[in-house]
Amino acid sequence: MSVDMPVVIQEPAVCSVLSDDVVVFDMKTFPKGTVEAVLMDIEGTTTSILFVHDVLFPYAKREMQAFIAEHETCLGSILDEVKYTAEAPDADLKETTNILLSWMEQDKKITSLKTLQGMMWEEGYKKGEFVGHIYEDAFVSMSEWFRQQMPLYIYSSGSVQSQKLLFSHSSYGDLSPMLSGYFDTNIGDKKQKESYVKIADAMKICPKSILFLSDSIEEVQAAKEAGLQTLLLARNGNGPENTAWVRSFNQIQIPPSFIRTVPKDVTDQIIRAGKFLGDAKLCPATSGNLSSRISADLIAITVSGKNKSLLTQDDVLVVDLAGKAVTMNKTPSAEALIHTAVYSVLPDVNAILHHHSVNSVVLSKLLADAFVTHGYEMHKALGCHSHESVISIPIFDNSQDYLILASRIQAYLKEHPSTIGVFLRGHGLYVWGYDMDEAQKRVEALEFLFETEWKLRSCAMLGS
Ligand SMILES: [Zn+2]
Repeated sequence: MSVDMPVVIQEPAVCSVLSDDVVVFDMKTFPKGTVEAVLMDIEGTTTSILFVHDVLFPYAKREMQAFIAEHETCLGSILDEVKYTAEAPDADLKETTNILLSWMEQDKKITSLKTLQGMMWEEGYKKGEFVGHIYEDAFVSMSEWFRQQMPLYIYSSGSVQSQKLLFSHSSYGDLSPMLSGYFDTNIGDKKQKESYVKIADAMKICPKSILFLSDSIEEVQAAKEAGLQTLLLARNGNGPENTAWVRSFNQIQIPPSFIRTVPKDVTDQIIRAGKFLGDAKLCPATSGNLSSRISADLIAITVSGKNKSLLTQDDVLVVDLAGKAVTMNKTPSAEALIHTAVYSVLPDVNAILHHHSVNSVVLSKLLADAFVTHGYEMHKALGCHSHESVISIPIFDNSQDYLILASRIQAYLKEHPSTIGVFLRGHGLYVWGYDMDEAQKRVEALEFLFETEWKLRSCAMLGS
């Protein structure tokens, strides 16, 4: 199946009964690389639709009187609002409580009631009076997707505050670290296409790369119109014929190698190092590129053609070890192949900086095979124990055929695994390290050595 195929799926799930109680449903398998984030509804999707009615509302009803009595002094303005809305300005505390209870009975959507309920539920969650219900299958899949760095988002009609409470005090503990963001109806009606367009915009992910899960056919329809991929959760097993549906999260299969967005801490490091290189004028005219290892076989690298001082989260993409873009709609520079060649051969390297400094270009054109120094205290910044050590940076002839260039560098590094960088003649320098800090320190130390050597050699030439 092509990676470019936008959507799933097999036709509506068909189940086959193996015995009286063992039922197997079709898996909904998404082609590799087509899902970049999962957006989930709560009620009926991650959570029993009965949770609000069987747990939260009865709790609010039961505790209303005691809660108001206990917090009367700090509830003044809310209680005044209740009296104002009910046109009962003289109501005493008991009468005000009864107004609230009658509103609850009638399921009225009145702001002061909602605010009070929210406060009570927050206290209830924090006291451990109840926990947020999460279906086991939802928990298992969310955990697996989170482990694989899939961004997970919530879109529910309950307020963002109530969503956060539910997931941070759930039947499976605090699940809030799994969630990248929450949306409520402040962004728009869940049955309106525009809401999903706005959410995709806020998530900074192309709509077709977002999978929306909900038990509401109208919501699924609206999300589909906005271009999202969708699956209906029909937990009772009676899904409609014309919509892709599943009975549980167990049926949703997203291949694991989908890391398409770069983890924020990785982009932050790259942005910082880019500012360092750019501000030091080591990457003139948008040249150079920076990368960091995300996992054994995935690399975060800068897109081409950007000012390195002004990099943003959007200027980094994921490539595999073959240098092929994993992130959609972004293209790495041809030089990504040099980065991936180094990462493939040197497993301890986790960051690479490539720049085009004047000194590295001049020296690489003057020297034959390598830049070699000895007798510098600065060698200690490169991991040597003494100034008497020798530093050697090999020089490779530049080429526009990066496949061949990458294989030459790779062959050299297999023979010389302690190498910390390479020159491309007349082009620039690649420097790497165990982490970004080490790579950056090495760039500074090498640039110092280049400058010093260049001055020494210039003096020697003048003196001769
Ligand atoms: Zn370059």
